[in-house]
Amino acid sequence: MALDIPSITPELDRLIRQRGRDLRLRQVDKQQAARLVNKLKTDLLKFLKDNQEQPFFRDVSPITTGSYFELVKIIKPNEFDIMLKLQTSSRLTWKALEKYNGAFYTVSLQRPARSEIRHFLLEDERTISSSKIMKEMHNLVQRFIKSYQVPAGEGRWVVHRRQINSPAVTLGLVNEDDGTEIMSVDIVPALEVPQGWPEAARAGPDVDKWLGKNTRRKFVAQPVYFVPKRPKQRNLSDVEKESWRISFSHIEKEMLRFHGNRRTCCERNEIRCCRKECLRLLKCLFEGLKERYKLEHLCSYHGKTAFFHNLSVRCEDSLWTPGQLSHCFMRLLCDFENSANKALLPHFFVRNYNLFSPSVFPKRSLMVLTSALKEQREEGFPLLQVRRPPAIGYNPAPPAQPQEVPEEPNTVTPKNDTVTSQHSSFTFTYVTVACIMLFMAVGCALYVKI
Ligand SMILES: [Zn+2]
Repeated sequence: MALDIPSITPELDRLIRQRGRDLRLRQVDKQQAARLVNKLKTDLLKFLKDNQEQPFFRDVSPITTGSYFELVKIIKPNEFDIMLKLQTSSRLTWKALEKYNGAFYTVSLQRPARSEIRHFLLEDERTISSSKIMKEMHNLVQRFIKSYQVPAGEGRWVVHRRQINSPAVTLGLVNEDDGTEIMSVDIVPALEVPQGWPEAARAGPDVDKWLGKNTRRKFVAQPVYFVPKRPKQRNLSDVEKESWRISFSHIEKEMLRFHGNRRTCCERNEIRCCRKECLRLLKCLFEGLKERYKLEHLCSYHGKTAFFHNLSVRCEDSLWTPGQLSHCFMRLLCDFENSANKALLPHFFVRNYNLFSPSVFPKRSLMVLTSALKEQREEGFPLLQVRRPPAIGYNPAPPAQPQEVPEEPNTVTPKNDTVTSQHSSFTFTYVTVACIMLFMAVGCALYVKI
């Protein structure tokens, strides 16, 4: 049976709003990190353009995607991604892998190539090898980092070990003094498919009521991308090992930015909504769940997908006014919990791909997730309690991160309380001493007179 939204106690309402505000405050940490990431991106592109060893990567160009631009990264505001578009001389063809309902593909050239991409093909001289692309991307980034200079005192970049299922080469900026990671950047190569979406996604996202039919048509007219990611299962066939996953992150970014029923939502101060705050809260809860319950299969993409489904149903802006934050968050969370209970969370673009199917989210992990969500809900979300964020070493003056944000603007904070009481006791002491001195002076005067 579908779970209904439980009643929201004043304590829970306060916690959700307090946490939402705390997460919003952290967004300002990004500016310093963004400066470093933009420099890294510019210099990496220059390195790739000039490199002699691997001409195929000379023509890559950046695609703007990722949470840096979406502004919804949570606990660590210092995780970024840079997607790099690979150029191919020939048109591409693709074939969906049977078991994955339109999420994973083999990608091939329509004609044999004499260009540089030929070094990244399989034996049939047509199929593009995702593993060869990833390996070379990793090598190039490693070479780039060896010669890359960061201004003194801002840390040292290191390349993470390759993750077999990840489409990214991950770089970490490490504090030179204590070796802690200050921030990380994922570099993701991608193939662009300009000529129409694959069959499984052709209907496009269900945004007609929410963003309008015109917007859906505009989305579908855009290219899609394939990223070198293979399915996360054991015993993959050779074909599966060389597969690519479809990516819509450029459109997801656009949906997050222009998220209102009226497209002007949140562009001006007087038209504000709580949609992004709800997503931040959900992601924050996920990060807590992953850490506490060791839920390695849960990722922020589950949250984003549930969020888009929620937005496409609850489409009117009037349902998302800032005052309704707690209700909206609980609605989103209950919908997600219902999805987990039913083991059904369709990909927002590839409807037949279920992110909770046992092949991609093992049953045992899903059981842990459902009981964890229930436990959190029943106990008033202890994982949403305000925690101090990790220190950001490169930021010499990070903005103050309050442990507890006062609920009402009129509430006097403990710090002010202390100052006020110190001030009062000082005045009291001063007056008392003055009175004693006055009494003594009067006493002395009388004594002298006598
Ligand atoms: Zn809005």
